[in-house]
Amino acid sequence: MKESHTTHKAACRFSEVRGASSETKSGGSAAPKHFTWKVTRIISAFLTTLCLLFATLATPIAAEAGTAQAIQSTQAEAPFELTMLNVGQGLSLLIKADGKYMIYDGGGRSSSSYVVSYLKQHGVTELTYLTASHYDEDHIAGLVGVLNTTKVDTVLCPDYTTDTKIYQSFLTKEQASGAQIIHPRAGDTYALANASISVLSADNSAETDNDRSIALRIAYGSFSVIMTGDAAEEEEAKILRTNSNLDSDLYIAGHHGSQYSSSTAFLNAVTPAYTFISCGAGNSYGHPTKDALDRIIASGSQLYRSDVQGEVTVYSDGTSYWFSQAPTKNLTPGTGSEGSSAGAGIDATSGTAVGSNATGSGTVTSAYSTAAGLGIAAAGDAGTSASQNASRAAGTYILNTRSKKFHYPSCDSVKKMSEKNKQVSTKSRDQLILEGYDPCQNCNP
Ligand SMILES: [Zn+2]
Ligand SMILES: [Zn+2]
Repeated sequence: MKESHTTHKAACRFSEVRGASSETKSGGSAAPKHFTWKVTRIISAFLTTLCLLFATLATPIAAEAGTAQAIQSTQAEAPFELTMLNVGQGLSLLIKADGKYMIYDGGGRSSSSYVVSYLKQHGVTELTYLTASHYDEDHIAGLVGVLNTTKVDTVLCPDYTTDTKIYQSFLTKEQASGAQIIHPRAGDTYALANASISVLSADNSAETDNDRSIALRIAYGSFSVIMTGDAAEEEEAKILRTNSNLDSDLYIAGHHGSQYSSSTAFLNAVTPAYTFISCGAGNSYGHPTKDALDRIIASGSQLYRSDVQGEVTVYSDGTSYWFSQAPTKNLTPGTGSEGSSAGAGIDATSGTAVGSNATGSGTVTSAYSTAAGLGIAAAGDAGTSASQNASRAAGTYILNTRSKKFHYPSCDSVKKMSEKNKQVSTKSRDQLILEGYDPCQNCNP
């Protein structure tokens, strides 16, 4: 877009020059001079129109272009925040801009109560936008609960129907919610306070539900993030053909790190400095796949994964951005096979999940060590990290029955905890949150 901006400036300057000379010329009385003046006026008017046209085209893009600066900060509050919720195999992103909220997908059934309680805990009582990327269960089931409990102003959802039960519940709830329902189209823009939301794709006639995903680029000052739902390579190619401004600081990996998404061509246009992958530990699809991980790393991006790190938040003030924790070095792909049926799901607490975590523990250690520098983990030695990983997989947490917090067994707070408040639990993270427990802010279980 640099080119058109330069053209715009150049055209303006040209017009000013011509305008000035026409003033001088208009002082003359001879007919040819008058004629010249008229022509100059027409040219000048034309150039001014051109100028204005370029200004309208260039200004919003120019404001969104450029790259924000990644910085290290422990500040857990900013005018713009995007949190990848830990919904397991699924996707849910909560976006805050100047106190206004949007949720993009709500995860699957198993994490519905967690998403609702997350909103409650963070004082989100009203959502300006609730976006359903597409109608697959792992994206909309959680939104049903949100529509039940939270005031929603506008629903953005694709314009197709399916015969699934979960879609029917979503439809019923969205209609009962009183929210305005919009089927956005590519090229539409929406404002979330000072954040600008551009619709990159809403391809309702695409062959697969995944490719019908509403893809968005959200810009807040010079910080930008791009999300494509579950769109695959062919849809990425379409987005590439129809959008000139894809360059973004953060990329939400398409389809949970599937091998059929995050194509090299697409990554080359997005050039993300960071990538979030939302997937469940030990998921049956094998997400994230080695192919997708390789391409993302090859693009020069650093990585965050919900299956390894849980919730991750990016904060931005519009010129710089930072994260709630350090990126992971864990490039261990999922162990399931892509394309297998969802029914063959491997339980997160099974041996497979433990195995995959164990092989990755060496590299995870370094991520925790880096995190320690950001004040996230108190101790980053291998033993601690290994036990953290083991406990994550086995679902062993230490509850403080008095403070209603839960921790990894290795958390420093556990050592200080009074025995009478201490309780060992093998319940899932979601279940504990459902029972009113909060994850410890230090060990981030
Ligand atoms: Zn999905
Ligand atoms: Zn899907």
